[in-house]
Amino acid sequence: MSLLTVGSVAFDAIETPFGKTDKIIGGAGTYIALAASFYNNEQSIVSVVGEDFPRAILDELEAKNVNLDGLQIKAGEKTFFWSGKYHNDMNSRDTLVTELNVLEHFDPIIPESYQGVEYLMLGNLSPQVQAQVIERLDTRPKLIAMDTMNFWMDIALDDLKKTISMVDILIINDEEARQLSGEYSLVKASKVIRAMGPKYLIIKKGEHGALLFHHDSVFYAPALPLEEVFDPTGAGDTFAGGFMGFIASTGDVSFENMKRAIINGSALASFCVEKFGTERLMTISREDLDSRIDEFVALTNFDMVHVIG
Ligand code: AMP
Repeated sequence: MSLLTVGSVAFDAIETPFGKTDKIIGGAGTYIALAASFYNNEQSIVSVVGEDFPRAILDELEAKNVNLDGLQIKAGEKTFFWSGKYHNDMNSRDTLVTELNVLEHFDPIIPESYQGVEYLMLGNLSPQVQAQVIERLDTRPKLIAMDTMNFWMDIALDDLKKTISMVDILIINDEEARQLSGEYSLVKASKVIRAMGPKYLIIKKGEHGALLFHHDSVFYAPALPLEEVFDPTGAGDTFAGGFMGFIASTGDVSFENMKRAIINGSALASFCVEKFGTERLMTISREDLDSRIDEFVALTNFDMVHVIG
């Protein structure tokens, strides 16, 4: 099936307790596309970079069957740059630098060849741009998923709520769910947020896994307990890319299949954090992914014996 990703393709500089990088490849769109490339889909991206972005990385994405017709390369301009520093617990981070550069006036142009796309993953970007993409598609995709962050809740809440009302699945973390809903309980938060429009809500809880809410059903998937988390950057985007890549390749949007998709996203995210940036995702194989999915199944599988008496 066909999957369109919209999201930043960027340079990042990251500092964790394990070390520090210079400018490396990052961006929500990059992580999503790389994760989704493990599944058999017609994959495409809408994004923008400056002329400083390395052609070799674009070639690598194309080699992974990501169609780049919708990736604009702006002559004389610089690529989006983000820098962050993680605290010792690796769960929280400070943004040190955000240079919007080409993202400042990004006009998401949809190539004619992308029309009719069946699945849409809106990576973290301004909610106006996310809404524009939906509005510019001639036919509504079968399933639209969206990521966002507290930054947009702080500066563009009305636009954000409008975009949220247009999507099927919202994928956010626990802190963002609490801010968006004003509720501390994630169960209450999920009700408030789903009343805004999306029928499904996924709340990511970092090393504590992820929750999927739909009607009165809840599914919980743990994160794989890892000895060492090297760099959490992009783990959420990788999760979303694996989730939507799996859904699109199976063409099944049932709640049961979303559970499998969550395990796929969680397995890919567990690889992402093992090295800086996109390094690990660039090198793992389909076999690596399959054996990690098996680890997840083993982690959550048990036989229950009811004691009578
Ligand atoms: P995550 O760790 O999942 O929050 O994603 C981190 C990625 O998001 C980094 O690679 C950044 O380049 C990208 N990013 C950070 N802030 C923004 C923003 N305001 N707009 C678009 N992408 C961003």
